[in-house]
Amino acid sequence: MRDLFEGAQSIMHRLEEAGFQAYMVGGCIRDLLLDREIGDIDIATSALPAEVSSLFQKTIPVGIKHGTVIVRQESVSFEVTTFRKEGKYVDRRHPSSVEYIESLEVDLARRDFTINAMAMDRFGRIHDPFGGRQDLQNQLIKTVGNPSERFLEDPLRIMRALRFWSVMGFSLETETKRACVSLSKELKEIAVERLAVEFIKLLRGRDAAGCLAFIFEEGISSSLPELERFKDRSDSLSSFDWTRLESDEERWAALLFLLGVTDLPGFLKSWKRSNALIREAGLLFGFLDKDVRQPLYLYELGEERAASCLRMRNLLQGKKASEDVQELKESYRGLPIHSRKQLAVNGRDIVKVFEREKGPWIQKVLGEIEKSVLEKTVQNNKEEILSWVRSWKE
Ligand code: ATP
Ligand code: MG
Repeated sequence: MRDLFEGAQSIMHRLEEAGFQAYMVGGCIRDLLLDREIGDIDIATSALPAEVSSLFQKTIPVGIKHGTVIVRQESVSFEVTTFRKEGKYVDRRHPSSVEYIESLEVDLARRDFTINAMAMDRFGRIHDPFGGRQDLQNQLIKTVGNPSERFLEDPLRIMRALRFWSVMGFSLETETKRACVSLSKELKEIAVERLAVEFIKLLRGRDAAGCLAFIFEEGISSSLPELERFKDRSDSLSSFDWTRLESDEERWAALLFLLGVTDLPGFLKSWKRSNALIREAGLLFGFLDKDVRQPLYLYELGEERAASCLRMRNLLQGKKASEDVQELKESYRGLPIHSRKQLAVNGRDIVKVFEREKGPWIQKVLGEIEKSVLEKTVQNNKEEILSWVRSWKE
């Protein structure tokens, strides 16, 4: 983390030497003041994107339209963004124009919440024109300016407010909360991918349970993909310990399981999740009601996934997540085989026994052998397997 700050300081120093202003801004200041781990540092500057690019060796013009240039410093990326002010919002999602400005304060004023609208200079001096520090102390999420206006400008902020609530365990300030609920229909205007980014962060948060309960109680669920249909089961979400889950696949699988969803791919496609996530979450989901300690399931899932399923099942049954997990791992390691390749016979051996033309039947036979080896009705030994297979012909 120190390196991160040193990197940022050297960038700010360089910008200042060239006659520009530069500050660390946004989430990193919030997290610094809370003594939380800092993911990345964003820098705001009076320098224009082209000026930023000309001052540093390694830069990537990621969001020139929004005034952002990535500056690479010893393989760490810093987003350096020109102070800006957003023009009127044309469609409540995209500002019609971005205007570069000279003032830090105006740049801070466009930010969503007071706790995200602070800046710090190279010497550690904090700029906090909207009382962010006070709100951090009071554990409040409060918009910069009028909440209804700010949510109408960009309804994603409603989802962000809920996300920060869950992640930080803070409360929504009264007016902010009221506007979140009364304007929640506006969420329908927002691209699902952007909603999903915030929603999954919400599920990772320390108060996912409370936040999900609120989403259903206040009908915000009706403006989010798929959720409303499963409202009847939403109580189960608030009594589940979300903080014990270890991956996003587990989070989606748990969510769908608790809601009683049957069509997992359909649900996750509505949330525009990737095929890889749908596959992984689907595997976990499909085994949540099974005893994955059985050899065949262990083999099919692999060690990590099986452990994941068992932990989730324990949680769903109100047990300690780690119960029996060590034993499961040992059972996995003790399986006679871990892949079909480890079988003592192969397709050729099988063709010889049956003297039939090659075809899909071979895989079927191998599958049967695999199963019996795993269940230990037959040993993984060529002679034994072949004599067992020969006995079928009789
Ligand atoms: P995280 O730690 O999860 O990255 P963050 O606060 O850094 O949290 P980002 O999404 O990375 O969140 O945004 C960086 C900063 O940009 C925020 O702190 C906030 O100041 C500003 N910001 C981001 N999204 C919006 C938005 N929709 N409206 C207004 N300001 C925003
Ligand atoms: Mg960030």
